[in-house]
Amino acid sequence: MPSFIPPTRTLMGPGPSDVSPRVLEALARPTIGHLDPEFQRLMDEIKDLLRYAFKTKNTLTFPVSAPGSAGMETCFTNLVEPGDKVIVCVNGVFGTRMVENVIRCGATAIIVNDQWGTPVCLDKTEAELKANPDAKILAFVAAETSTGVACDTKSLCALAQKYNCLTIVDAVTSLGGSELEVDAWNIDAVYSGSQKCLSCPPGLSPVSFNDRAIEKIKSRKTPVQSWFMDLNLVMGYWDGTGGRSYHHTAPVNAMYALHESLLILKEEGLENAWARHIEMSKRLRIGFEAMGIEYLVEEKYRLPQLNTIIIPQHIVDEAAIRAKLLNEHNLEIGAGLGSLAGKVWRVGLMGHSARQENVDKCLAAFKAVMN
Ligand SMILES: *Cc1c(COP(=O)(O)O)cnc(C)c1O
Repeated sequence: MPSFIPPTRTLMGPGPSDVSPRVLEALARPTIGHLDPEFQRLMDEIKDLLRYAFKTKNTLTFPVSAPGSAGMETCFTNLVEPGDKVIVCVNGVFGTRMVENVIRCGATAIIVNDQWGTPVCLDKTEAELKANPDAKILAFVAAETSTGVACDTKSLCALAQKYNCLTIVDAVTSLGGSELEVDAWNIDAVYSGSQKCLSCPPGLSPVSFNDRAIEKIKSRKTPVQSWFMDLNLVMGYWDGTGGRSYHHTAPVNAMYALHESLLILKEEGLENAWARHIEMSKRLRIGFEAMGIEYLVEEKYRLPQLNTIIIPQHIVDEAAIRAKLLNEHNLEIGAGLGSLAGKVWRVGLMGHSARQENVDKCLAAFKAVMN
């Protein structure tokens, strides 16, 4: 059997995104031990770089050794105790996964439902916060990758504070792609992923917790049910003070890649990266609109890094179009999920994928396959 040689694709779906040659090169450097002093220096630098990307001073900031879903579980399993009440805003797939996490932690989920493709309603959220004074946490998705909707994270965090709730924010698609201010907006716990706007291979989930979140974890009456994700234990490895001890074998080479991608982000400048995502989504929109293609989401709520377009009526087999894009143009885009399946396509402009060359290639490929 020969070695596996993947095709060279252009990744413009909901993630993973294109990985830059610089990051791939970092990934291929020699593996060293996960307790090697040099690796520990790398871990410290990654934590610093993540603090830059999250705009936070939080000490407890590090990448969980698993994909975004594990960052989600790390937040919920540590912060939610059996019997707790958690308000969860649901306007897409990832909100429903938060609900599932809450239930599996033995807690009660109070759901604020909004139609897929629309943002989280602040008034409805406030009504539930008011009606449930015993709720301890408000959880929501900052950038709903399933629909392409941005939500008003700053205002939701302010509401949570007003009603004495901690916040758990899904920033998997936000980090490095659109405005996110962990400290300035008082986000208590946040998780992300390596393969969206950081343009790293999948498999790591940056997380950050502030002092209020740590206090809640320390005052738990029951131990965290997950051994692997228990922050009290993980910290023995990620927190340099008092010497690092073995917890699990970190994915060493994946950390080289994350470090390199964060360096690239810092070199560009976080705010410049946000602006680039906006600029590229404008270029894409102008092209799509010229082809008569419409967007699902109202303009002011659109995510620049995830563009959800309505499949034109004359297309009878949307999967065949996606297959053509992939097979004839090496272009990957995303299908609709859940109630949007068969109705929309999701075109990602994440990280290294958010560049002019990709936008133009994507528009040309669409023109070719739709004719
Ligand atoms: C991709 C994504 C996740 C899950 O991340 P994985 O790395 O696939 O586990 C969670 N939330 C949002 C908003 C996402 O886009």
